[in-house]
Amino acid sequence: MTDRKAQLAENLARVEERIASACAAAGRAREEVTLIVVTKTYPASDVRILHELGVRHVAENRDQDAAPKAAECSDLSLTWHFVGQLQTNKVRSVAGYADVVQSVDRARLVTALSAAAVREGRELGCLIQVALDAESGERGDRGGVAPDGIEELAAAVESAPGLRLGGLMTVAPLAGPYAGRQRAAFDRLMEFSSRLRGNHPAANMVSAGMSADLEDAVAAGATHVRIGTAVLGVRPGLG
Ligand SMILES: *Cc1c(COP(=O)(O)O)cnc(C)c1O
Repeated sequence: MTDRKAQLAENLARVEERIASACAAAGRAREEVTLIVVTKTYPASDVRILHELGVRHVAENRDQDAAPKAAECSDLSLTWHFVGQLQTNKVRSVAGYADVVQSVDRARLVTALSAAAVREGRELGCLIQVALDAESGERGDRGGVAPDGIEELAAAVESAPGLRLGGLMTVAPLAGPYAGRQRAAFDRLMEFSSRLRGNHPAANMVSAGMSADLEDAVAAGATHVRIGTAVLGVRPGLG
């Protein structure tokens, strides 16, 4: 085993243990939570190693980095999640490799994603990104629709050709009433998820929790956790 593979295996084992303990503490089955490894800023060779180690879901947040990485790994059976703020001029590229776009936060993006999915002949899973601290009609600093905009976007995704409404995603706010209160933030997201499932029963994905707060997310009921640093190491520079 290379040093890098041994390192990633050790990190993955530690994260797996954290998820398993959090599930046990919450009385949830381990299979209810899917690990997505966020590979942003790390090379395709790491994605390949992660696949060898059993990882099947990876996430990226910048199309410029993700597109070549996904192309280099196209022989691997992986589900690619796009989790970054997405400009409409990148949508065509993203629709070529992403299986799930977790950062859907405005109607124009829905229209663009739908057109691109149809053109590529692919079905794209879509999660509505919720900015828990955004005021009505506004978007969050790191993307996301204000809570009162969820249903309108969900309806738009559901009626858009080529798109499948998967559920909700959030990033715990750094500022505002939820700052430092991840559990409260994720509980709030779960309330929005319950409401959403009332109208869209199949939209049962809840993507929440990162390296620092995956336990809170699992306790609240997240179905997908997005883990970068705890698996790959501290990212050099911004990302
Ligand atoms: C980078 C990123 C993550 C992973 O964060 P870590 O703290 O490194 O685990 C999760 N979600 C999104 C949207 C990200 O951009």
